[in-house]
Amino acid sequence: MSERVIPLVDQRLQALVATVPAQTIATHGLLSDSLGRPLHDLRISVTDRCNFRCNYCMPKAVFDKDYAYLPHSDLLNFEEITRLAKVFVAHGVRKIRLTGGEPLLRKNLEVLVAQLANIQTPDGTPLDLTLTTNGSLLARKAKALKDAGLNRVTVSLDGLDDAIFRAMNDVDFPVTDVLDGIAAAKDAGLGLDANGHLTGLKVNMVVKRRTNVDQILPMARHFRGSGITLRFIEYMDVGATNGWCMDDVLPSNEVIQRLQQEFPLVALEASARGETAQRWGYANAAGKFDPDLGEIGVISSVTQAFCRDCNRARLSTEGKLYLCLFATQGYDLRSLLRKSNSSGNPTTDTDLASAIGHIWHQRDDRYSELRASLPVDAASAVRRVEMSYIGG
Ligand code: SAM
Ligand code: SF4
Ligand code: SF4
Repeated sequence: MSERVIPLVDQRLQALVATVPAQTIATHGLLSDSLGRPLHDLRISVTDRCNFRCNYCMPKAVFDKDYAYLPHSDLLNFEEITRLAKVFVAHGVRKIRLTGGEPLLRKNLEVLVAQLANIQTPDGTPLDLTLTTNGSLLARKAKALKDAGLNRVTVSLDGLDDAIFRAMNDVDFPVTDVLDGIAAAKDAGLGLDANGHLTGLKVNMVVKRRTNVDQILPMARHFRGSGITLRFIEYMDVGATNGWCMDDVLPSNEVIQRLQQEFPLVALEASARGETAQRWGYANAAGKFDPDLGEIGVISSVTQAFCRDCNRARLSTEGKLYLCLFATQGYDLRSLLRKSNSSGNPTTDTDLASAIGHIWHQRDDRYSELRASLPVDAASAVRRVEMSYIGG
Protein backbone atom coordinates (compact mmCIF):
# COMPACT_ATOMS: atom_id res chain seq x y z
CA MET A 1 0.00 0.00 0.00
CA SER A 2 1.56 3.35 -0.96
CA GLU A 3 1.28 6.29 1.42
CA ARG A 4 0.17 9.73 0.34
CA VAL A 5 3.18 12.02 0.77
CA ILE A 6 2.77 15.76 0.67
CA PRO A 7 5.82 17.71 -0.54
CA LEU A 8 7.64 19.63 2.15
CA VAL A 9 7.48 23.41 2.25
CA ASP A 10 10.42 24.51 4.32
CA GLN A 11 8.91 26.32 7.30
CA ARG A 12 12.31 26.41 8.96
CA LEU A 13 13.29 29.32 6.74
CA GLN A 14 10.59 31.52 8.21
CA ALA A 15 10.88 33.15 11.59
CA LEU A 16 9.09 35.63 13.76
CA VAL A 17 11.29 38.33 15.21
CA ALA A 18 11.82 38.16 18.96
CA THR A 19 12.01 41.69 20.30
CA VAL A 20 13.01 43.05 23.67
CA PRO A 21 10.05 45.12 24.90
CA ALA A 22 10.64 48.63 26.23
CA GLN A 23 9.41 47.55 29.65
CA THR A 24 11.34 44.84 31.50
CA ILE A 25 9.32 41.70 32.26
CA ALA A 26 10.43 40.38 35.62
CA THR A 27 11.22 36.71 36.19
CA HIS A 28 8.98 36.01 39.17
CA GLY A 29 8.00 32.56 37.89
CA LEU A 30 4.38 33.55 37.48
CA LEU A 31 4.30 34.13 33.76
CA SER A 32 0.97 33.37 32.12
CA ASP A 33 -0.18 33.47 28.52
CA SER A 34 -3.27 35.20 27.11
CA LEU A 35 -5.39 32.18 28.14
CA GLY A 36 -3.99 32.14 31.68
CA ARG A 37 -1.65 29.18 31.12
CA PRO A 38 1.68 29.13 32.98
CA LEU A 39 5.05 28.27 31.44
CA HIS A 40 6.18 25.04 33.09
CA ASP A 41 7.63 22.68 30.55
CA LEU A 42 10.42 23.32 28.01
CA ARG A 43 11.22 20.87 25.22
CA ILE A 44 14.61 21.41 23.65
CA SER A 45 15.41 19.86 20.29
CA VAL A 46 19.14 19.20 20.07
CA THR A 47 19.28 17.89 16.50
CA ASP A 48 17.04 17.63 13.45
CA ARG A 49 18.75 14.41 12.34
CA CYS A 50 17.64 10.88 13.02
CA ASN A 51 18.86 7.37 12.25
CA PHE A 52 15.24 6.11 11.91
CA ARG A 53 12.69 6.95 9.23
CA CYS A 54 9.43 6.30 11.09
CA ASN A 55 6.84 6.69 8.39
CA TYR A 56 4.62 8.88 10.58
CA CYS A 57 7.45 11.32 11.30
CA MET A 58 10.28 11.30 8.73
CA PRO A 59 8.99 9.48 5.66
CA LYS A 60 11.85 8.30 3.45
CA ALA A 61 10.32 9.88 0.37
CA VAL A 62 10.98 13.33 1.86
CA PHE A 63 13.85 12.72 4.27
CA ASP A 64 16.09 11.12 1.67
CA LYS A 65 19.82 11.52 1.00
CA ASP A 66 19.22 14.95 -0.55
CA TYR A 67 17.33 16.36 2.39
CA ALA A 68 19.00 19.53 3.70
CA TYR A 69 19.46 19.29 7.45
CA LEU A 70 20.43 22.41 9.36
CA PRO A 71 24.13 23.24 9.04
CA HIS A 72 26.09 22.81 12.26
CA SER A 73 26.78 26.55 12.57
CA ASP A 74 23.03 27.16 12.78
CA LEU A 75 22.62 24.93 15.81
CA LEU A 76 22.62 26.45 19.27
CA ASN A 77 25.75 25.36 21.11
CA PHE A 78 25.52 23.91 24.62
CA GLU A 79 26.34 27.24 26.30
CA GLU A 80 23.59 29.00 24.34
CA ILE A 81 21.07 26.28 25.18
CA THR A 82 22.00 26.41 28.86
CA ARG A 83 21.82 30.20 28.95
CA LEU A 84 18.32 30.16 27.49
CA ALA A 85 17.27 27.28 29.74
CA LYS A 86 18.29 29.31 32.81
CA VAL A 87 16.07 32.18 31.67
CA PHE A 88 13.15 29.79 31.11
CA VAL A 89 13.69 28.32 34.59
CA ALA A 90 13.65 31.83 36.07
CA HIS A 91 10.27 32.29 34.34
CA GLY A 92 8.81 29.15 35.95
CA VAL A 93 9.96 26.16 33.89
CA ARG A 94 10.50 23.11 36.12
CA LYS A 95 10.64 20.35 33.53
CA ILE A 96 13.10 20.17 30.63
CA ARG A 97 12.87 17.44 28.01
CA LEU A 98 15.62 16.94 25.44
CA THR A 99 14.35 15.72 22.12
CA GLY A 100 14.98 15.89 18.37
CA GLY A 101 15.36 14.26 15.79
CA GLU A 102 17.21 11.65 17.72
CA PRO A 103 18.82 13.49 20.66
CA LEU A 104 21.43 10.81 21.30
CA LEU A 105 22.94 11.57 17.88
CA ARG A 106 24.09 14.96 19.21
CA LYS A 107 27.77 14.55 20.11
CA ASN A 108 28.67 14.74 23.81
CA LEU A 109 25.06 15.18 24.85
CA GLU A 110 26.00 14.23 28.41
CA VAL A 111 28.00 17.49 28.60
CA LEU A 112 24.80 19.44 27.93
CA VAL A 113 22.91 17.26 30.42
CA ALA A 114 25.50 18.09 33.10
CA GLN A 115 25.16 21.84 32.38
CA LEU A 116 21.36 21.69 32.55
CA ALA A 117 21.39 19.52 35.68
CA ASN A 118 23.38 22.26 37.42
CA ILE A 119 20.68 24.89 36.94
CA GLN A 120 19.23 25.97 40.27
CA THR A 121 15.53 26.80 40.45
CA PRO A 122 14.65 30.01 42.34
CA ASP A 123 12.61 28.11 44.97
CA GLY A 124 15.11 25.26 45.29
CA THR A 125 12.74 22.62 43.88
CA PRO A 126 14.68 20.17 41.73
CA LEU A 127 14.48 20.52 37.98
CA ASP A 128 12.94 17.50 36.25
CA LEU A 129 15.41 16.69 33.46
CA THR A 130 14.35 14.07 30.95
CA LEU A 131 14.88 12.92 27.39
CA THR A 132 12.88 11.21 24.65
CA THR A 133 14.80 8.77 22.47
CA ASN A 134 14.22 6.02 19.95
CA GLY A 135 16.47 3.90 22.17
CA SER A 136 18.86 2.83 19.44
CA LEU A 137 21.94 4.27 21.21
CA LEU A 138 20.65 4.03 24.75
CA ALA A 139 22.45 0.82 25.74
CA ARG A 140 25.73 2.65 25.07
CA LYS A 141 24.78 5.98 26.65
CA ALA A 142 22.44 5.31 29.57
CA LYS A 143 25.05 5.27 32.30
CA ALA A 144 26.89 8.41 31.11
CA LEU A 145 23.56 10.25 30.90
CA LYS A 146 22.57 9.18 34.40
CA ASP A 147 25.99 10.11 35.77
CA ALA A 148 25.68 13.54 34.12
CA GLY A 149 22.42 14.18 36.00
CA LEU A 150 19.61 13.04 33.70
CA ASN A 151 16.67 12.02 35.89
CA ARG A 152 14.64 9.88 33.58
CA VAL A 153 14.00 8.85 30.02
CA THR A 154 11.11 8.05 27.66
CA VAL A 155 11.81 5.48 24.96
CA SER A 156 9.70 5.28 21.81
CA LEU A 157 8.81 1.76 20.76
CA ASP A 158 5.92 0.99 18.42
CA GLY A 159 5.72 -2.78 18.76
CA LEU A 160 7.43 -5.98 19.86
CA ASP A 161 7.01 -7.89 16.64
CA ASP A 162 10.37 -7.51 14.93
CA ALA A 163 8.98 -7.40 11.39
CA ILE A 164 6.41 -4.73 12.29
CA PHE A 165 8.96 -2.67 14.19
CA ARG A 166 11.55 -2.86 11.41
CA ALA A 167 8.91 -1.76 8.89
CA MET A 168 7.79 1.16 11.08
CA ASN A 169 11.30 2.52 11.70
CA ASP A 170 11.94 1.86 7.99
CA VAL A 171 15.68 1.34 8.49
CA ASP A 172 15.39 -2.33 9.46
CA PHE A 173 16.38 -1.64 13.06
CA PRO A 174 15.78 -4.67 15.33
CA VAL A 175 13.49 -4.51 18.33
CA THR A 176 15.96 -6.35 20.59
CA ASP A 177 18.42 -3.45 20.47
CA VAL A 178 15.76 -1.03 21.73
CA LEU A 179 14.79 -3.49 24.49
CA ASP A 180 18.48 -3.66 25.44
CA GLY A 181 18.50 0.15 25.63
CA ILE A 182 15.47 0.12 27.94
CA ALA A 183 17.15 -2.51 30.14
CA ALA A 184 20.34 -0.41 30.28
CA ALA A 185 18.33 2.67 31.28
CA LYS A 186 16.71 0.67 34.09
CA ASP A 187 20.08 -0.72 35.23
CA ALA A 188 21.58 2.77 35.23
CA GLY A 189 18.82 3.97 37.57
CA LEU A 190 17.15 6.33 35.11
CA GLY A 191 13.58 6.95 36.25
CA LEU A 192 14.14 6.26 39.96
CA ASP A 193 12.40 8.82 42.16
CA ALA A 194 13.72 10.29 45.42
CA ASN A 195 12.39 7.23 47.31
CA GLY A 196 14.13 4.80 44.98
CA HIS A 197 10.89 3.79 43.21
CA LEU A 198 10.94 3.36 39.45
CA THR A 199 8.31 5.92 38.41
CA GLY A 200 9.98 7.78 35.54
CA LEU A 201 10.93 5.17 32.97
CA LYS A 202 8.37 5.31 30.17
CA VAL A 203 7.78 3.73 26.80
CA ASN A 204 5.76 5.59 24.16
CA MET A 205 3.94 3.70 21.43
CA VAL A 206 2.34 5.60 18.56
CA VAL A 207 -0.72 3.61 17.49
CA LYS A 208 -1.53 3.66 13.82
CA ARG A 209 -4.44 1.73 12.33
CA ARG A 210 -3.52 -0.80 9.65
CA THR A 211 0.04 -0.79 11.04
CA ASN A 212 0.55 -1.76 14.68
CA VAL A 213 -2.83 -2.03 16.40
CA ASP A 214 -2.16 -5.75 16.95
CA GLN A 215 0.85 -4.80 19.05
CA ILE A 216 -1.21 -3.11 21.79
CA LEU A 217 -1.81 -6.26 23.85
CA PRO A 218 1.66 -7.80 23.40
CA MET A 219 3.22 -4.48 24.49
CA ALA A 220 0.94 -4.33 27.54
CA ARG A 221 1.74 -7.95 28.48
CA HIS A 222 5.46 -7.25 28.16
CA PHE A 223 5.63 -4.11 30.29
CA ARG A 224 2.91 -4.90 32.88
CA GLY A 225 4.57 -5.44 36.25
CA SER A 226 7.99 -4.24 35.01
CA GLY A 227 7.87 -0.82 36.66
CA ILE A 228 7.96 0.77 33.21
CA THR A 229 4.94 2.85 32.21
CA LEU A 230 3.66 2.18 28.71
CA ARG A 231 1.84 5.05 27.02
CA PHE A 232 -0.23 4.85 23.86
CA ILE A 233 -0.17 7.95 21.66
CA GLU A 234 -2.79 8.77 19.07
CA TYR A 235 -1.24 9.24 15.65
CA MET A 236 -1.19 13.01 15.15
CA ASP A 237 -1.44 15.35 12.20
CA VAL A 238 1.86 17.04 13.01
CA GLY A 239 4.06 18.28 10.19
CA ALA A 240 3.08 18.26 6.56
CA THR A 241 4.84 15.22 5.14
CA ASN A 242 3.36 12.10 6.72
CA GLY A 243 0.11 12.10 4.72
CA TRP A 244 -1.92 11.89 7.94
CA CYS A 245 -5.58 10.98 7.71
CA MET A 246 -8.16 10.44 10.44
CA ASP A 247 -8.78 6.87 9.24
CA ASP A 248 -5.33 5.95 10.59
CA VAL A 249 -6.09 7.20 14.10
CA LEU A 250 -7.18 4.64 16.68
CA PRO A 251 -8.91 6.70 19.39
CA SER A 252 -7.53 6.15 22.89
CA ASN A 253 -10.90 4.94 24.20
CA GLU A 254 -10.61 2.02 21.76
CA VAL A 255 -7.10 1.32 23.06
CA ILE A 256 -8.53 1.13 26.58
CA GLN A 257 -11.38 -1.14 25.42
CA ARG A 258 -8.89 -3.52 23.81
CA LEU A 259 -6.73 -3.60 26.94
CA GLN A 260 -9.72 -4.21 29.17
CA GLN A 261 -10.56 -7.39 27.27
CA GLU A 262 -7.53 -8.88 29.00
CA PHE A 263 -6.65 -6.63 31.92
CA PRO A 264 -9.04 -4.85 34.29
CA LEU A 265 -8.05 -1.20 34.53
CA VAL A 266 -9.01 1.58 36.91
CA ALA A 267 -8.78 5.29 36.11
CA LEU A 268 -6.11 7.15 38.10
CA GLU A 269 -5.77 10.82 38.99
CA ALA A 270 -3.56 13.00 36.79
CA SER A 271 -0.12 13.30 38.38
CA ALA A 272 0.12 17.03 37.63
CA ARG A 273 -1.83 19.78 35.93
CA GLY A 274 -0.99 20.00 32.25
CA GLU A 275 0.08 16.34 32.03
CA THR A 276 -0.56 15.02 28.54
CA ALA A 277 -1.38 11.42 29.49
CA GLN A 278 -4.54 10.08 31.09
CA ARG A 279 -3.46 7.44 33.59
CA TRP A 280 -4.98 3.99 34.09
CA GLY A 281 -3.82 1.46 36.68
CA TYR A 282 -3.84 -2.32 36.37
CA ALA A 283 -6.32 -3.71 38.89
CA ASN A 284 -5.91 -6.70 41.22
CA ALA A 285 -8.49 -9.44 41.77
CA ALA A 286 -10.43 -7.11 44.09
CA GLY A 287 -10.72 -4.52 41.32
CA LYS A 288 -8.37 -2.09 43.03
CA PHE A 289 -5.26 -0.47 41.53
CA ASP A 290 -2.24 -2.69 42.16
CA PRO A 291 0.97 -0.58 42.14
CA ASP A 292 3.05 -3.73 41.62
CA LEU A 293 1.33 -4.26 38.27
CA GLY A 294 1.84 -0.62 37.39
CA GLU A 295 -0.01 1.70 35.09
CA ILE A 296 -0.46 2.69 31.48
CA GLY A 297 -1.20 6.06 29.91
CA VAL A 298 -3.09 7.24 26.87
CA ILE A 299 -2.27 10.47 25.08
CA SER A 300 -5.35 11.52 23.15
CA SER A 301 -4.00 14.49 21.26
CA VAL A 302 -6.50 14.04 18.45
CA THR A 303 -9.73 12.91 20.10
CA GLN A 304 -9.49 14.85 23.36
CA ALA A 305 -7.75 18.18 23.14
CA PHE A 306 -5.76 19.19 26.21
CA CYS A 307 -4.84 22.72 25.11
CA ARG A 308 -6.57 24.28 28.11
CA ASP A 309 -3.72 23.24 30.39
CA CYS A 310 -0.91 23.30 27.84
CA ASN A 311 2.11 24.78 29.59
CA ARG A 312 4.75 23.65 27.09
CA ALA A 313 7.22 25.74 25.10
CA ARG A 314 9.49 24.27 22.44
CA LEU A 315 12.97 25.42 21.50
CA SER A 316 14.11 24.24 18.09
CA THR A 317 17.63 23.11 17.27
CA GLU A 318 18.60 26.54 15.93
CA GLY A 319 16.95 28.51 18.68
CA LYS A 320 13.43 29.31 17.58
CA LEU A 321 10.74 29.37 20.24
CA TYR A 322 7.53 27.58 19.24
CA LEU A 323 4.40 28.03 21.27
CA CYS A 324 2.53 24.99 19.95
CA LEU A 325 3.40 21.67 18.34
CA PHE A 326 1.22 22.71 15.42
CA ALA A 327 2.71 26.18 14.97
CA THR A 328 3.81 27.29 11.55
CA GLN A 329 6.49 29.70 12.75
CA GLY A 330 8.76 30.22 15.72
CA TYR A 331 10.37 33.26 17.35
CA ASP A 332 14.05 33.68 16.57
CA LEU A 333 15.81 33.72 19.94
CA ARG A 334 19.20 32.89 18.42
CA SER A 335 19.41 36.32 16.80
CA LEU A 336 18.95 37.85 20.22
CA LEU A 337 21.61 35.58 21.70
CA ARG A 338 24.15 36.24 18.99
CA LYS A 339 23.53 39.90 18.23
CA SER A 340 23.45 43.00 20.31
CA ASN A 341 20.22 44.71 21.35
CA SER A 342 18.76 47.84 19.76
CA SER A 343 21.21 50.08 21.67
CA GLY A 344 24.18 48.14 20.30
CA ASN A 345 24.94 46.45 23.63
CA PRO A 346 25.21 42.68 24.03
CA THR A 347 21.84 41.14 24.84
CA THR A 348 21.59 40.64 28.59
CA ASP A 349 19.74 37.86 30.40
CA THR A 350 17.20 40.52 31.46
CA ASP A 351 16.65 41.33 27.78
CA LEU A 352 16.18 37.64 26.98
CA ALA A 353 13.77 37.19 29.87
CA SER A 354 11.73 40.20 28.76
CA ALA A 355 11.61 38.99 25.16
CA ILE A 356 10.47 35.49 26.22
CA GLY A 357 7.99 36.93 28.72
CA HIS A 358 6.54 39.21 26.04
CA ILE A 359 6.13 36.29 23.60
CA TRP A 360 4.50 34.06 26.22
CA HIS A 361 2.11 36.82 27.34
CA GLN A 362 0.69 36.95 23.82
CA ARG A 363 0.35 33.18 23.33
CA ASP A 364 -3.14 32.07 22.35
CA ASP A 365 -2.37 28.77 20.56
CA ARG A 366 -4.88 25.93 20.96
CA TYR A 367 -4.74 24.03 17.72
CA SER A 368 -6.14 20.71 18.98
CA GLU A 369 -9.21 22.42 20.38
CA LEU A 370 -9.80 24.14 17.07
CA ARG A 371 -8.92 21.18 14.84
CA ALA A 372 -12.43 19.77 14.81
CA SER A 373 -13.92 23.06 13.70
CA LEU A 374 -11.45 23.53 10.84
CA PRO A 375 -12.53 22.38 7.39
CA VAL A 376 -10.41 19.29 6.56
CA ASP A 377 -8.78 21.04 3.62
CA ALA A 378 -7.90 24.09 5.68
CA ALA A 379 -6.35 21.95 8.43
CA SER A 380 -4.19 19.95 6.04
CA ALA A 381 -3.20 22.95 3.92
CA VAL A 382 -1.42 24.62 6.83
CA ARG A 383 2.33 24.27 6.41
CA ARG A 384 3.26 23.15 9.88
CA VAL A 385 6.80 22.48 11.06
CA GLU A 386 7.95 18.88 11.20
CA MET A 387 7.98 16.88 14.44
CA SER A 388 11.58 15.79 13.76
CA TYR A 389 12.62 19.46 13.67
CA ILE A 390 10.66 20.85 16.60
CA GLY A 391 10.74 17.73 18.81
CA GLY A 392 7.80 15.79 20.24
N1 SAM B 1 13.60 10.44 18.08
C1 SAM B 1 13.09 10.48 19.39
C2 SAM B 1 11.99 9.46 19.56
O1 SAM B 1 11.48 8.94 18.58
O2 SAM B 1 11.65 9.21 20.71
C3 SAM B 1 12.61 11.84 19.86
C4 SAM B 1 11.90 12.70 18.86
S1 SAM B 1 10.31 12.08 18.32
C5 SAM B 1 9.81 13.36 17.24
C6 SAM B 1 9.33 12.31 19.78
C7 SAM B 1 8.06 11.49 19.87
O3 SAM B 1 7.17 11.93 18.89
C8 SAM B 1 8.23 9.99 19.66
O4 SAM B 1 7.67 9.31 20.77
C9 SAM B 1 7.45 9.73 18.41
O5 SAM B 1 6.89 8.46 18.41
C10 SAM B 1 6.42 10.83 18.46
N2 SAM B 1 5.81 11.13 17.15
C11 SAM B 1 6.44 11.47 16.01
N3 SAM B 1 5.55 11.69 15.03
C12 SAM B 1 4.32 11.49 15.57
C13 SAM B 1 2.99 11.56 15.07
N4 SAM B 1 2.73 11.88 13.80
N5 SAM B 1 1.98 11.31 15.93
C14 SAM B 1 2.22 10.99 17.21
N6 SAM B 1 3.44 10.91 17.74
C15 SAM B 1 4.49 11.14 16.93
FE1 SF4 C 1 13.29 9.64 14.36
FE2 SF4 C 1 11.86 9.86 16.55
FE3 SF4 C 1 10.91 10.77 14.23
FE4 SF4 C 1 11.14 8.15 14.55
S1 SF4 C 1 9.81 9.52 15.73
S2 SF4 C 1 11.81 9.32 12.76
S3 SF4 C 1 12.91 8.01 15.82
S4 SF4 C 1 12.65 11.56 15.31
FE1 SF4 D 1 -0.48 22.58 23.38
FE2 SF4 D 1 -0.72 23.20 20.80
FE3 SF4 D 1 -0.92 20.65 21.59
FE4 SF4 D 1 -2.87 22.42 22.18
S1 SF4 D 1 -2.28 21.72 20.16
S2 SF4 D 1 -1.97 20.90 23.59
S3 SF4 D 1 -1.65 24.29 22.51
S4 SF4 D 1 0.90 21.94 21.75
